[in-house]
Amino acid sequence: MSENKDPHVAESGLESVKFVYDFTEGNKDLKDLLGGKGANLAEMTNLGLPVPPGFTISTEACKTYLDSGDEPAALRDEVSAHLDALEERMGKKLGQADNPLLVSVRSGAKFSMPGMMDTVLNIGLSDKSVKGLAEQAGDERFAWDSYRRLIQMFGKTVLAVDGDLFEDALEAAKTAKKVTVDTDLEAADLKKLVTKFKKIVKTECGRDFPQDPREQMDLAIHAVFDSWNTDRAKLYRRQERIPHDLGTAVNICSMVFGNLGPDSGTGVAFTRDPASGHQGVYGDYLQNAQGEDVVAGIRNTVPLAELELIDKKSYDQLMQIMETLENHYKDLCDIEFTIERGQLWMLQTRVGKRTAGAAFRIATQLVDQGLIDEAEALQRVTGAQLAQLMFPRFDEDAKVEQIGRGIAASPGAAVGKAVFDSYTAIKWSRSGEKVILIRRETNPDDLDGMIAAEGILTSRGGKTSHAAVVARGMGKTCVCGAEDLEVDTKRRRLTVNGTIVEEGDVVSIDGSTGKVYLGEVPVVPSPVVEYFEGRMHAGADDADELVAAVHRIMAYADRVRRLRVRANADNAEDALRARRFGAQGIGLCRTEHMFLGDRREQVERLILADTDAEREESLKELLPRQKQDFIELFEAMDGLPVTVRLLDPPLHEFLPDITELSVRVALAESRKDSNENDLRLLQAVHRLHEQNPMLGLRGVRLGLVIPGLFTMQVRAIAEAAAERKNAKGDPRAEIMIPLVGTVQELEIVRDEAEQVIAEVQQQTGVDLKLSLGTMIELPRAALTAGQIAEAAEFFSFGTNDLTQTVWGFSRDDVEASFFTAYLEKGIFGVSPFETIDKDGVGKLVRDAVKAGRATRPDLKLGVCGEHGGDPESVHFFHEVGLDYVSCSPFRIPVARLEAGRAASTSKGSDHR
Ligand code: ADP
Ligand code: MG
Ligand code: MG
Repeated sequence: MSENKDPHVAESGLESVKFVYDFTEGNKDLKDLLGGKGANLAEMTNLGLPVPPGFTISTEACKTYLDSGDEPAALRDEVSAHLDALEERMGKKLGQADNPLLVSVRSGAKFSMPGMMDTVLNIGLSDKSVKGLAEQAGDERFAWDSYRRLIQMFGKTVLAVDGDLFEDALEAAKTAKKVTVDTDLEAADLKKLVTKFKKIVKTECGRDFPQDPREQMDLAIHAVFDSWNTDRAKLYRRQERIPHDLGTAVNICSMVFGNLGPDSGTGVAFTRDPASGHQGVYGDYLQNAQGEDVVAGIRNTVPLAELELIDKKSYDQLMQIMETLENHYKDLCDIEFTIERGQLWMLQTRVGKRTAGAAFRIATQLVDQGLIDEAEALQRVTGAQLAQLMFPRFDEDAKVEQIGRGIAASPGAAVGKAVFDSYTAIKWSRSGEKVILIRRETNPDDLDGMIAAEGILTSRGGKTSHAAVVARGMGKTCVCGAEDLEVDTKRRRLTVNGTIVEEGDVVSIDGSTGKVYLGEVPVVPSPVVEYFEGRMHAGADDADELVAAVHRIMAYADRVRRLRVRANADNAEDALRARRFGAQGIGLCRTEHMFLGDRREQVERLILADTDAEREESLKELLPRQKQDFIELFEAMDGLPVTVRLLDPPLHEFLPDITELSVRVALAESRKDSNENDLRLLQAVHRLHEQNPMLGLRGVRLGLVIPGLFTMQVRAIAEAAAERKNAKGDPRAEIMIPLVGTVQELEIVRDEAEQVIAEVQQQTGVDLKLSLGTMIELPRAALTAGQIAEAAEFFSFGTNDLTQTVWGFSRDDVEASFFTAYLEKGIFGVSPFETIDKDGVGKLVRDAVKAGRATRPDLKLGVCGEHGGDPESVHFFHEVGLDYVSCSPFRIPVARLEAGRAASTSKGSDHR
């Protein structure tokens, strides 16, 4: 019936849509349609591997079912046709009394997903066919064992009966018989258990366990469809950013039996070690068992290597198949198999999950084996994995006491004393203690406590919970949703499996694995960072295998990438580190930090100056110190561009706190010894106080209203550059004007700057080539980029401010208050401060790039917001044609890698 139909969904007309595919019809690239499991079962079938025959109901059928509440009209007939064909092929009919065909009904979405319906095995067994099965196999015990498993699985997953009821009955049967493992139950015991199980179903559901095999199958299929929308499945999808409209496929697979005695069994295996990447035999095997027994821990499994002693023929065949799979998928595979009376059957394979370290090692191993090329290797790793490898980690050799585990929400290794409220967190951290803030969940009131803590641990909430979102925003270690932990904030303690942790006890949390430890676990620096720092050499004899792999892949990324990578760095120390990490310049040097500390008083005087003379005086004091800062920076980055941003933040940031100062003045007045300076200061603070400083007097606006401020900074840059040139250096300064909204602002500042530069050239006799450009960080600037480019030699997109102003919210205020709700409601999948909002902010960037280049074809374009170090955003910036991204020194390797991945043309891999 189906032979004359195209195995792909036809493009036109509902009638030609096909919903069911035999395993021989699919292939591994049809995951959208057949789900991961179905696509790979088909692939194995077509490779000629021993896969029990069967067919897959497509995700399209599921989508129709979920949209309309009913299965598509044609589905029933199509399933019947495929079932007929299967029965014909197997020479037996589903549930047939004397010689039954049994099948499993298995869910399988595009991405493997916890929360989906569990597989039901042995569909087709009934009071009648169980006898047929016993005869067919010549084993009564086996038949009744299979039947009790069916009622148990079907009851639990399809009919939603509490699984414990079955477990308890099974336990009771074992106890009555005085045995400890299920294999010691005999046919008669299992027969009794079946009666018991059927009673449970009847009592719990008010209906009998269905005896009609086709009804069993149809109910199971619908249950798989329905399981797409369980709360757990939805939550998982939201956390992993898997679209909600994919639907799941259903696989109907003829049964093979690992529970037919000691010459049968079931196992799982990896083609190489998913932790280290090493090739070898990794897996577990369990004799006389079915399905999940091997991972459920009901009996002790043996290491896969022992299968060689148990059944050499099957073992050799399995090794052969594993090699075939690796060579075919060109990657680490994980597999499920069953041996039925000495006959090996393959039940599942997929490209296996692996640790970040293994990802790098496997990628280079596969290159060495000639299975993939370097371009593909680059696609096999991600910036997120590299970032994970760069965090300090807990010493693997340390003795640890793990007390719990939650969701790895924000990576890092944090150690500190347990505190249960923000107030204590702040108090203790002020007195120099390291603390871990432990809460059931956090809310905006906890913000200061989170800032004060080394790490955050919560017992509730997932990856989009308040704790997780805010911690990631702050780059702070966080483990959330550690549900075993009972957090008692009133008594300031937590209880977990009998262990009590009191306030002040030291705990260690691992934000990369979610593990929670009691006591201090020693932290070791990441070897990958040691390598980037130049303290470990990839070529050295004792070099870590991981470091060597990272080195090779980074070298390849650097070779192919088009984007240059610069650093955001304000001082020589950061600049030097950035250089070691591969920075090709500084994309953002913030000068405000140079105005703090002991220079703050000079800035105060500048702000308070009443007369030109006073102002010039304070500027003159600042000048030489600014100049020295720049000399050091230019020296550190000799030969590379350094973009210096003129003063940006609102002035009040340099003045004393308004409340503190008011109190001081009031006290002094009551003592009648008021201080003239304090009074003036207070006045100024009042004058400069702003309701919305983010939208107030800052950036270029400052330069325009405080005479001499910007020109002093430009002079410092120019004189520093001249000095470096005289010292035979190669300074390449770029002067950047922040917060420009209109070209007129820029023109005024540019004219003044050019005059200063000309003066310095004349005074020093040095020919300076300083370029002048602007940040694009206001919507108006982006919208008028064509005009602005007339006065700017470069643009640097300030995507932090641009995001704030495009969305109309201030990051500090909103991230902690309502982002959790927004993420949970799916308004955005990820914070727009983490990954650039391509449709909104990104559109402005894209258009501004075009308009800017239309005015000035050689306009240099970069980005200096935090997005410059975010993998997905880097790909976007590559695509819109920027020249460089700039990010914090630590993110530089990530940006280099992702820029390489974006540029590399290789595609088609099983990795997300
Ligand atoms: P999961 O998605 O949880 O891996 P599976 O559909 O792979 O679920 O099935 C669960 C278990 O049942 C696995 O161990 C699998 O190998 C086994 N299994 C599934 N179908 C069959 C079958 N037709 N014959 C024997 N065992 C099966
Ligand atoms: Mg499986
Ligand atoms: Mg800004």
